[in-house]
Amino acid sequence: MKEFKKLLEQKDFSKDDILRLLNSEGEDKTLLLKRSREVADAQIGKKVYLRGLIEYSNICSKNCFYCGIRKGNRAQTRYVMEDEEVLDCARFAYEKSYGSIVIQTGERVDSAFTGKIEDLIRQIKELSHGELGITLSLGEQSDETYQKWFAAGAHRYLLRIETSNPDLYLRYHPDDGNHRFEERLAALERIRRAGFQQGTGVMIGLPGQTLEDLADDLLFIKNLDVDMVGMGPYIEHEDTPMFSDREQLMSRMERYQLALNMLAALRLMMPKINMAATTAMQAIHPDGREEAVLAGANIVMPNITPLKYRECYLLYDGKPCVDEEPARCHGCIINRIQSTGNQVGLGEWGDSRHFLAKQVCKD
Ligand code: SAH
Ligand code: SF4
Repeated sequence: MKEFKKLLEQKDFSKDDILRLLNSEGEDKTLLLKRSREVADAQIGKKVYLRGLIEYSNICSKNCFYCGIRKGNRAQTRYVMEDEEVLDCARFAYEKSYGSIVIQTGERVDSAFTGKIEDLIRQIKELSHGELGITLSLGEQSDETYQKWFAAGAHRYLLRIETSNPDLYLRYHPDDGNHRFEERLAALERIRRAGFQQGTGVMIGLPGQTLEDLADDLLFIKNLDVDMVGMGPYIEHEDTPMFSDREQLMSRMERYQLALNMLAALRLMMPKINMAATTAMQAIHPDGREEAVLAGANIVMPNITPLKYRECYLLYDGKPCVDEEPARCHGCIINRIQSTGNQVGLGEWGDSRHFLAKQVCKD
């Protein structure tokens, strides 16, 4: 135990150290989670920032084997939100002082789509007098597209690597030239080059994924020196090819517990990054987001998509809040965050301190 406490004080972590953190349970786990929250408090403070999540469209040109809105899922009705609906969501976030929104969709690279996103970014900036921060989660795009979205006013971008093991990446995606690991890495590089705060992440508890793979994922994230991370448990969706691998999975609760250890370990490794308490955590445990905050997460993304679209944006089974009005979620989320002893950073962008520290060094 004494040795474990010493491990928690370290600044650098070897793969073996990370494996010990990921394996921790009982008293060790309690110490790990306590320490990771302390590190967050000391390095980035006790504020949790909100990002109102707008699931703009579920049309996707890709076929990731794990995802419920993959192109090949013919059971899924497709939608694109009306412009006015998107602007209403943004107005709601602005009026509620969320500080930021996230726009997420399936992946599309056609110019009708990329141009529409550019317009929407500009309009959202205008209606909020430049005050709403905008994060994008719109998949792999060209340099030109990333640059034009950045110029329009978005300033953070999330693109998960999903797994840093190229062999596993190949297992979870079709080998059709449209889902290449190297291309994912290149897109992450383009995101940074365009000027965005760069975010990535992985799914935890995928079939065939070992603890070693997850330790490597954390080292990958650290080496990439990203500014933000969103990672959460993999949850199977019955209309996807990967559903047939479900016998190989850990129990959902085991995936959840492992995700808490992943969050805590990464907070020790990268004290100043922004780290999300993901919806997938809440899908497994009703208090999942709060427990993630207690493990060191500092970002929560309340879903503000109009109710009528929620049922159509199911990446995995059992997604929570599909029938909760955004207005109701609002009070609920504030209370829930405060129950963790943290405050909500209302009206603030809550940019990554990791990113800001790098900017100061550059100047
Ligand atoms: N199309 C964009 C954004 C939408 S998907 C993209 O792929 O980047 C956003 C994230 O949802 C993905 O990065 C993936 O990590 C997660 N996701 C998809 N299917 C999932 C599942 N079955 N369980 C858990 N997370 C899933
Ligand atoms: Fe499309 Fe993203 Fe789902 Fe892959 S994970 S199928 S790119 S929405």
